[in-house]
Amino acid sequence: MQACRAALLRFDEQGHALYDADGLLVIGPDDKGQPVVRAAGAYQALARHFPGVPVTHWPGRLIAPGFVDLHIHYPQLDVIGSPAEGLLPWLEHYTYPHEARFADARHAQEVAPFFLDELQRNGVTTALTFATSHPASVDALFGEARRRGLRLITGRVLQDRHSPDGVRDRASPDGAHTATEQSLIETEQLIQKWHGVDRLGYAITPRFAPTSSAAQLQGAGELAARYPDVWIQSHAAENLDEIRWVRELFPRSRSYLSVYDGFGLLRERAIYAHCIHLDDEDRALMQARGAAAAVSPTSNLFLGSGFFDYVAANRAGLRYGLASDVGGGTSFSPFRTMLAAYTVGREGQTKPGLSLAPGHLWWQHTAGAARALGLSGVIGNLQVGCEADFVVLNPRATPLLARRTAQADSLAELLFALIVLGDDRVVEHTVIRGTVQNAPPAAINWPAVPPA
Ligand SMILES: [Zn+2]
Repeated sequence: MQACRAALLRFDEQGHALYDADGLLVIGPDDKGQPVVRAAGAYQALARHFPGVPVTHWPGRLIAPGFVDLHIHYPQLDVIGSPAEGLLPWLEHYTYPHEARFADARHAQEVAPFFLDELQRNGVTTALTFATSHPASVDALFGEARRRGLRLITGRVLQDRHSPDGVRDRASPDGAHTATEQSLIETEQLIQKWHGVDRLGYAITPRFAPTSSAAQLQGAGELAARYPDVWIQSHAAENLDEIRWVRELFPRSRSYLSVYDGFGLLRERAIYAHCIHLDDEDRALMQARGAAAAVSPTSNLFLGSGFFDYVAANRAGLRYGLASDVGGGTSFSPFRTMLAAYTVGREGQTKPGLSLAPGHLWWQHTAGAARALGLSGVIGNLQVGCEADFVVLNPRATPLLARRTAQADSLAELLFALIVLGDDRVVEHTVIRGTVQNAPPAAINWPAVPPA
């Protein structure tokens, strides 16, 4: 067992922030030997119950759950910051040419560790990420995540039409299977190879309705029924041009979202990015099926797609969490994403505006995102039994942050100062399964306090 002493942030079952200004987090093995939270709370109340357990003291620091990124594209690492005239031209000019490079396993193996380094540097300990249509892209990322002991979910992209050579699905080399059949065969092989291995999980991954034939969506839905604890990820209702296109392709569906429902792709553990241009019937359907929205505010602002309607989502009881959506998104940093979510919430010209509370923004990127994934009590929180993935944050990482947080009179003010002014400089350590991944800056050498 080991323990850490610092300020401590976690969430109750209703999503309210719990805070100990002088907290203790005790980590030890569960009955399978995996490092989990054994106790969390006020130092004064807990310390005497754990005599002899070594305590690492981080004075002035805040321990918080590792961030969960609900939607990101690892092959778009090099697409971030590419200018374009909206979603569809951006896909054509930047995204597809970059994703085509993942046919080469060596390229995937070079990108995967950089991508995971960048997530961890920003305090993200779990991501639900797209790979590409090449199985090698999935193998490279799962292999690297497994080496690091990460909880990570990804899947081979399904896209058998309306996309260029290089990323579109291809028939089997011997000609025995069509591109659609081959895409589904490879998906099932990857599920059997990776899903449930250590902390890895597979996601059935149709890119979006326009790039999959009805036969491919049908096959994806059949796999989703056969493997009910496998995730599903895709995009829905991001952009008005895209929605018009879906209406042309699936004229008998009531809405874009109901295309997925018609193929059995709305269920628990199904995560749809964006969900901006839904109506109340869509939201009710999503809620009833147990599917969740990955709100991607930096991407939606960057591509000019629109504003997620929090008021309508809350009214419908829709589950949601926050996502970077890199490379359409503009930052790996959860702080940038939380600030953009606040901005999107405030927007009141196209939908009702509201001020999202700082604790609720933080919850959306941790325990709320975990709930959307069906992983409440596993990740995204620091309650007893949660896996020991967390971050150690420095609220004085920059001069302005130090000045502002010193004047914070409440937890809400402290969290909001971090959300508005924070970035990767705030993340001093990212801890995976109780092990510190990145070394502290050389100038800082914190003494351990004596065992309690
Ligand atoms: Zn996306």
